Amino acid sequence: MVRETGYYDLLGVNPTATLDELKKAYRKLALKYHPDKNPNEGEKFKLISQAYEVLSDPKKRELYDQGGEQAIKEGGMGGGDFSSPMDIFNMFFGGGGRTQKERKGKNVVHKLAVTLEELYNGSTRKLGLQKNVICEKCEGYGGKKGGREKCTTCKGRGVQVQVQQIGPGMIQQIQSMCSDCQGQGERFNSKDRCKNCNGHKVERKKKILEVHIDKGMKDDQRITFHGEGDQEPGLEHGDVIIVLELKQHPIFRRRDNDLIMKMNIKLAEALCGFKKTIRTLDDRALIVHSSPGQVIKPNDLKCINNEGMPVYKEPYEKGLLIVQFEIDFPDKHWLPEHMLPDLERLLPVREHIMLTDDMEEVDLCEVDNENQKRSFSGEANEEDEHPRGGGVQCQTQ
Ligand SMILES: [Zn+2]
Ligand SMILES: [Zn+2]
Repeated sequence: MVRETGYYDLLGVNPTATLDELKKAYRKLALKYHPDKNPNEGEKFKLISQAYEVLSDPKKRELYDQGGEQAIKEGGMGGGDFSSPMDIFNMFFGGGGRTQKERKGKNVVHKLAVTLEELYNGSTRKLGLQKNVICEKCEGYGGKKGGREKCTTCKGRGVQVQVQQIGPGMIQQIQSMCSDCQGQGERFNSKDRCKNCNGHKVERKKKILEVHIDKGMKDDQRITFHGEGDQEPGLEHGDVIIVLELKQHPIFRRRDNDLIMKMNIKLAEALCGFKKTIRTLDDRALIVHSSPGQVIKPNDLKCINNEGMPVYKEPYEKGLLIVQFEIDFPDKHWLPEHMLPDLERLLPVREHIMLTDDMEEVDLCEVDNENQKRSFSGEANEEDEHPRGGGVQCQTQ
């Protein structure tokens, strides 16, 4: 058998070199020819990496020592596939996260819009997703084994260099990944290429996933399907990550495990009592009422125990249903003026002030500016806080 020294020559070491010597040689050369430093030496960078990949692995080194490059290319390394030069570089130098990411196929992140009813009752949704799966015909190899040849477009460098004239006497070199071989430097000729995946090693397939939405799950919660993401030959399969996105509910707002709703009642109901129904998220009807003598004020909060959201993983526990009251006051002139004294007799006594000469009488006008109105009335606070504007307060007390 022929004994070659080509790989040793590339790294500039003796065929008797130790692993340490190989490492030292690779370190020096890889830094020198790294594409960031030496963009025109892509081919050299690739060759150094291949030489190091073979010689640093005792089994492959033995194979090479016995049969030369031919033995390596003919299936000794799972069909002659070399790792990408960048992967070897990053692995060697403990490269910043990149290799880690590339060891796994892509995660597929998918948003799933859900209703509050679904989070309350739990539900199962079927989701059709497109993903890359390893081609069945060629088992992810891309074509006939051993059928790869140097890409003629980029001459095996994996990159294409375009020269552009950007001004008189000025040219610019633009380097881009070779589109014919996807930067691999090698490709199948049309005869050996897999017809099913056209040499891409993977094909797009539709996959139906059943997403189980558990009671009490939250907006933005992630459900991970391990290994159901994109497949790539030689890499761990990616994950499918479903991100729940809560649609707004017309009645209920959620705060942790509590539900908050607004309830409008008439002034008469606020003062004399009321009975109302609430439709729950699992379509039951609750009857709520106030007892005689109770007075409900604007923004008052009342709560119903155990009618909030189920607790995730403990669905028999539920939060509170908090009801925030709004009082519908009658419109102006609802009562003929001559009847006002009758009403006043029934209401708590109003305040009379002593007028003195140093006081000044002014008019109360409407606030026209919509923005101003909004900023003062504000979203009702969660706390039992009386709104500003003494006028309203006087009438309810
Ligand atoms: Zn294929
Ligand atoms: Zn190419």
